[in-house]
Amino acid sequence: MNPDSERQNKGNILIVDDLLENLQLLSEALLKLGYTVRSVTNGRMALKTAKVKPPDIILLDIKMPEMDGYEVCRTLKIDENLHSIPVIFISALDDVFDKVTAFNLGAIDYITKPFQIEEVVARLENQLTIQRQQRLLEQENIKRREAEEVLYQSRALIASVLNSSLDGIAALQAVRNPETGNIEDFRCLVVNPVIARAFQRTREEMIGKLILKKFLSKIESELFNSLVEVVETGNPLERDFYYETGNSCWYHFIAVKLGDGFAITIRDITARKHIELALQEANQKLEELANQDGLTHVANRRCFDARLQAEWKRLAREKQPLTLILLDVDKFKLYNDCYGHLAGDDCLVRIAQTLQKLIRRPADLVARYGGEEFAILLPNTTLEGGLKVAQSIQQTIRDLAISHTQSGVKEIVTVSLGISSMIPNREIQPDILIGNADKALYDAKEQGRDRFSINL
Ligand code: GH3
Ligand code: MG
Ligand code: MG
Repeated sequence: MNPDSERQNKGNILIVDDLLENLQLLSEALLKLGYTVRSVTNGRMALKTAKVKPPDIILLDIKMPEMDGYEVCRTLKIDENLHSIPVIFISALDDVFDKVTAFNLGAIDYITKPFQIEEVVARLENQLTIQRQQRLLEQENIKRREAEEVLYQSRALIASVLNSSLDGIAALQAVRNPETGNIEDFRCLVVNPVIARAFQRTREEMIGKLILKKFLSKIESELFNSLVEVVETGNPLERDFYYETGNSCWYHFIAVKLGDGFAITIRDITARKHIELALQEANQKLEELANQDGLTHVANRRCFDARLQAEWKRLAREKQPLTLILLDVDKFKLYNDCYGHLAGDDCLVRIAQTLQKLIRRPADLVARYGGEEFAILLPNTTLEGGLKVAQSIQQTIRDLAISHTQSGVKEIVTVSLGISSMIPNREIQPDILIGNADKALYDAKEQGRDRFSINL
């Protein structure tokens, strides 16, 4: 530290005394001790000097011609730039010195002449210390006010975000069991208007209350545990959520840990969800239509091919049998010729419905394979099982007794069936199963129709 700044730190003193002798004595002593000292011999000079650069302290003689110390002090105290400079009066013992007047004028101390320099220094230091502490306090006050302003601004910002947000925003604090430490519920700390509206309450009715557990127990109590997890693990939770209020029912929320609790933002996604669900339904419908035969409403060839591939793979893994029945209506061309194409269509629909009713297991599939041919896929079914199905199909269609006078086989509509069964193998293609069933069907036709035949 250079001598100048050291002096600066020690204190800047203005000495006012009309007696040069006094002035010299005091200023030399203080200079030696490292203070910055300016000295003047009258009141007017004192005020001027103080205005140029306010000292840290003024040592002010009382008895001076023209303008005495009281007058100088009075003038200082009404000057807005100088009024806070501490004044220590110096008075000779024989002066008529009124301490009460001095303190009333705002002086902070007084020293009587003749003085000991140590006393002056002690009193000076006292005041300088008080001053330094005051300055520190003022600086801290300024900093505190600035911090308060920042805090106020950010609170205002948060409040405006909370109030204007279209999303629901809330902050909740965990309420723990004092003995076990387990979270028993959550207390609402912050609730914005969107949330309050969803709960059909005012914010005041919600803030500070423990309402979450009770609320969730009515809707989805497991969600309470998931929110406890958020607090205990720090992992955020993001989900769609169904809850009917007014015109809304679907919400999306994100909960993140905040202190010993969590903050949550909730968005009403009812409109989006309705569109999504409608789209899903439409897609499902489309998917169904893409897999359905337009006339008979059983599965179509596309669906059959896909299912055969899937079941082939699955049953190859499980080493379980797969049985296929191919069914062909006998002399159907003649049926059309005799009863007309529309009646032919009706007949196909009745046969398809009959097949569909007979096939009970969820994995079984009835498909229109083409024209008047149907395929019945029977996973996890042995040949014996397939035979039973074939027999019951044949009998049930006979029982329909759809008149077919031109058939030449019988007077009613009959069917021929080809059955094949095998345990699928990844080494071979499922086409082999179709080929075998087709061959069996051909045999049944060859042997006179209205029967089934097997080809393994
Ligand atoms: P077969 O006993 O040898 O099977 O004799 P078929 O007359 O049934 O066999 P063919 O293959 O000669 O004729 C099949 C007929 O099935 C020809 C066609 O008119 C009829 N057919 C195919 N698809 C439909 C359809 O969607 N509607 C109607 N009405 N008839 C169809
Ligand atoms: Mg045919
Ligand atoms: Mg036919």
